[in-house]
Amino acid sequence: MDDARRDEIAAGLADVERRVEQACRAAGRARSDITIIAVTKTYPASDVRVLAGLGVTDIGENRDQEAADKAAECGDLGLTWHFIGQLQTNKVRSVVSYADVVHSVDRSRLVDALSREAVRQEREVGCLIQVALGGGEGGPAERGGVAPAGVLPLAEAVTRADGLRLRGVMAVAPLGEDPGEAFARLYSVAQAVQKEHPAADVISAGMSGDLAQAIANGATHLRVGTALLGRRKPFVR
Ligand SMILES: *Cc1c(COP(=O)(O)O)cnc(C)c1O
Repeated sequence: MDDARRDEIAAGLADVERRVEQACRAAGRARSDITIIAVTKTYPASDVRVLAGLGVTDIGENRDQEAADKAAECGDLGLTWHFIGQLQTNKVRSVVSYADVVHSVDRSRLVDALSREAVRQEREVGCLIQVALGGGEGGPAERGGVAPAGVLPLAEAVTRADGLRLRGVMAVAPLGEDPGEAFARLYSVAQAVQKEHPAADVISAGMSGDLAQAIANGATHLRVGTALLGRRKPFVR
């Protein structure tokens, strides 16, 4: 293993851990309420292995092919895999084969497709309803998600679907708005979901740049890439 890379990732993790602890203290929350999901997109499976060696148990990916390859290479590590990218129905068969949780459930056709595959593959897939928080230029279409008014009906559809388990909600803070204000709106959507479905207590919010605001607004799962692994090289889809 490359020791220099290991040291680099360990330093990133220590820094993120310090920020998370500080934000928890400021918000009066327990560190154990928060799960850090390491977003490893564009980075190699060897980095996933380093993260696992440092105690990270949850890995996030946003592109199916890349995620499938890494999940296969790291199948011995007992990790929890989170699919966090926009999901087309033609990728559902593959995604269901390795993903434990899909964060980007935003339409009923996707619920149907995920359910069909989960049943066929005898898997249980955790589902987060992705909420479009609006506000930014480009609007909801830019980053996916269902408008707040559509969240409860979709949550209901997930709970009725075989092979799926409703776990909560996810959002990305819109560009051009204070993330704290956006995450406060997400929190009230999450509360409405939990009122109907008490076990759906996950709030996936907060990335490298806004994790403190997410923790202040009830996030339970952070999706952190850059702060752990470094700035990603731009890539062409
Ligand atoms: C890439 C990505 C992240 C991680 O972002 P960083 O700023 O690198 O921490 C989080 N969530 C989603 C949906 C992503 O695509």
